[in-house]
Amino acid sequence: ISLPNLVASMEVEESYIMIKPDGVQRGLVGEIIYRFEKKGFKLKGLKLFQCPKDLAEEHYKDLSSKPFFPKLISYITSGPVVCMAWEGVGVVASARKLIGATNPLQAEPGTIRGDLAVQTGRNVVHGSDSPENGKREIALWFKDEELTEWTPVQTPWVIE
Ligand code: GDP
Ligand code: MG
Repeated sequence: ISLPNLVASMEVEESYIMIKPDGVQRGLVGEIIYRFEKKGFKLKGLKLFQCPKDLAEEHYKDLSSKPFFPKLISYITSGPVVCMAWEGVGVVASARKLIGATNPLQAEPGTIRGDLAVQTGRNVVHGSDSPENGKREIALWFKDEELTEWTPVQTPWVIE
């Protein structure tokens, strides 16, 4: 992605972050949630969930013509995932930076994929690639009643 996309916008946005089945099986749930929580973003929704095939296909529909698509769908449905909705100023681009490059061998040390994974097909976490997709994906994975509006006490200490 080009540099302008990496500059965190000042807009309050939402990002759909998902710990993929390998992250859950490897016991990385706490480690991954910790990184978003300590950054200062707000958690609005959280669940452990066995993803059905049709939802995985809808979520990744833009990749449906790729040769790896069948493998991707079987990976994402191979065990439970942890679905999260995170809100914050510039959260979409910031989460992508925290997550690191798609190929974990190219992801910088200090990023989730750079620290915790080695292969694109086992890259432990998903993050929305635009504010529009953040909204779309949160609506796809969560029911309205699974999302909570609240104000963390830390908010004025995170956002001036
Ligand atoms: P992301 O936004 O960084 O997750 O990357 P993409 O949107 O390009 O791809 C979505 C997901 O598809 C990636 O996170 C990988 O899990 C998977 N994926 C992408 N490219 C490949 C590939 O070449 N091989 C395999 N096996 N999986 C891939
Ligand atoms: Mg993507």
